[in-house]
Amino acid sequence: MAKHQFQTEVNQLLHLMIHSLYSNKEIFLRELISNASDALDKLKYLTLTDEKYKELKFDPRIEISFDSDKKTLTIKDSGIGMNQEDLVEHLGTIAKSGTKSFVEKLTGDAKKDSNLIGQFGVGFYASYMVADKVEVITKKAGENEAYSWISDGKGEYEIASASRDEQGTTIILHLNDEGKEYSSRWGVKSVIEKYSNHIPYPIFMEFKEKEYDDKGEEKGEVQKREQANAATALWKLSKSDIKEQEYNDFYKTISHDNEDPMLCVHTKAEGTLEYTTLFYVPKKAPMDLYRVDYKAGVKLYVKRVFITDEEKELLPTYLRFVRGIIDSEDLPLNVSREILQQNRILANIKSASVKKILSELKKLSKDSEKYAEFIKEYNRPLKEGLYQDFTNKEELLELVRFKSNKVDGWVSLAEYKDRMKADQKAIYYITGENENNLKNSPLLEAYKTKDIEVLIMADEIDEIVIPSIGSYKETELKSVNRTDTADDLKSEKDETAAKEIEETLKKMKEILGEDVKDVKASVRLSDSPSCLVVDQNDPTAQMAHMFRAMGQEMPKTLPILEINPTHPIVLKLKTMEDKELFEDVTRLLFEQAMLLDGAILKNPSEFAKRLNSILSKAI
Ligand code: ADP
Ligand code: MG
Repeated sequence: MAKHQFQTEVNQLLHLMIHSLYSNKEIFLRELISNASDALDKLKYLTLTDEKYKELKFDPRIEISFDSDKKTLTIKDSGIGMNQEDLVEHLGTIAKSGTKSFVEKLTGDAKKDSNLIGQFGVGFYASYMVADKVEVITKKAGENEAYSWISDGKGEYEIASASRDEQGTTIILHLNDEGKEYSSRWGVKSVIEKYSNHIPYPIFMEFKEKEYDDKGEEKGEVQKREQANAATALWKLSKSDIKEQEYNDFYKTISHDNEDPMLCVHTKAEGTLEYTTLFYVPKKAPMDLYRVDYKAGVKLYVKRVFITDEEKELLPTYLRFVRGIIDSEDLPLNVSREILQQNRILANIKSASVKKILSELKKLSKDSEKYAEFIKEYNRPLKEGLYQDFTNKEELLELVRFKSNKVDGWVSLAEYKDRMKADQKAIYYITGENENNLKNSPLLEAYKTKDIEVLIMADEIDEIVIPSIGSYKETELKSVNRTDTADDLKSEKDETAAKEIEETLKKMKEILGEDVKDVKASVRLSDSPSCLVVDQNDPTAQMAHMFRAMGQEMPKTLPILEINPTHPIVLKLKTMEDKELFEDVTRLLFEQAMLLDGAILKNPSEFAKRLNSILSKAI
């Protein structure tokens, strides 16, 4: 017998399982049955594809039994099983990134934490919500040794040799007060029906029933066995035979989510290619959505045989939040996992699936309230799609949403275009770090005066994605952060005003020297004296910052300072004799433009000094 310590994260998780009163404790059974089903899937695949396992006697099933006196619940499967290393690795540590980040989010506040559990399947460890001791007896397919694993969930577990006839895993829960209702047939049956009805393997319940003679007197007890689930693959049934509730329950089984999905798309294709897909969009974005090591959400089946749940390319990366199943009738069963990505059949299923999902989202977008929920969670991945998926660019352009300086809430490009002024030349947008700052940016002043709508792009990836769009239905998208964009607004009056401060601008440029690329007269300012823009082909400050953060070298680019030729300060500068004051004001105009652009001043103490010197003159 050997004692082992749980990994720290597991301890945290177990502590939570034991101490927080989580109202949805029944999910422990869903998790254990889902593990048993995964283990059966794995072995089934091997018996069909690997010579070594072809001779193995394999009767895939899950058996559930109880002992109400001893208060135990036993879940037994004939799946792949685990050896000693597997036990240590899978039931002593957390490998999955998703779970780790989940644990990192735990606060120690039982109420908040149990909300988190609801958003995240915690797998095997959920047993400790209902049991104060868990025993695992397991034997790996193709190996001779069986092992037991025992733990009360408090810091350590023990592994020892054991005996078990066939391969597979038996899990014995010693139920606590929270879990005592699960030591009987009735407590368990309803949970199985809810979550595991469509696990594609039979789940048998074994229970004792009292027998009576003709006179109605108790004769004794008999052992009975009944199948507790339908054991049909839900996605193979026809749509009309499936109730919404069943779709939702099945979603919970495959996603480990406790909430109903936001969207469900069930498709059967018959023709040159025969396949079934069942896709779901979760209400809340998966926790690992923005991690490089996110878990794939779609499982691949061939003729109902599970092939893999690790293939991330079944759908494009930007749809990685989609959960569900692809079941193909045309792929060979022994399709090697390695060549899946190059498979032509799969490629066709993939592109048809993407079209289907996008068209369902289009339908969803007709309901603005529901669609706002979707956008709140998934606008960003959709934007990723804009530069990953050129074939569906048109569809994606209809689906993404933006903020705007004109209305609250989300705006589509179609709505923007509808509202455009008759003589408006382009779709205008501003990029930067903070929605509120952007809305108040001096760059928007002239657009406000002329009542032209500007889209507010505060999402980091907008800097990369939006310029790549080019145009929407033949209308160009233009960034107001760039110099030339303002040419659209130019009038003759502006030209004259610019001429009049030419000399002043020259002097200002001499003072600012290497800090700016140029100093120009602005046509976009009305209230503010100055603002910063970038040259037409230079990266914006945020873009440069982002690329540097990704380790890329970026040449240093300088901003262009634009000056409002009719602003009172600027008019005063024109005739100013005091050279020192002129220099201070010039620098302050530059520095305030930098601050409004979200930049950090290189020399804040100099800035304060200048400001104070001018203040003391003013007071
Ligand atoms: P997940 O199922 O998401 O991987 P779990 O905590 O539910 O996380 O299970 C952890 C791991 O333990 C599984 O990935 C699997 O390798 C192993 N495991 C759990 N239950 C079984 C079982 N009944 N048979 C074989 N392996 C199992
Ligand atoms: Mg699991």
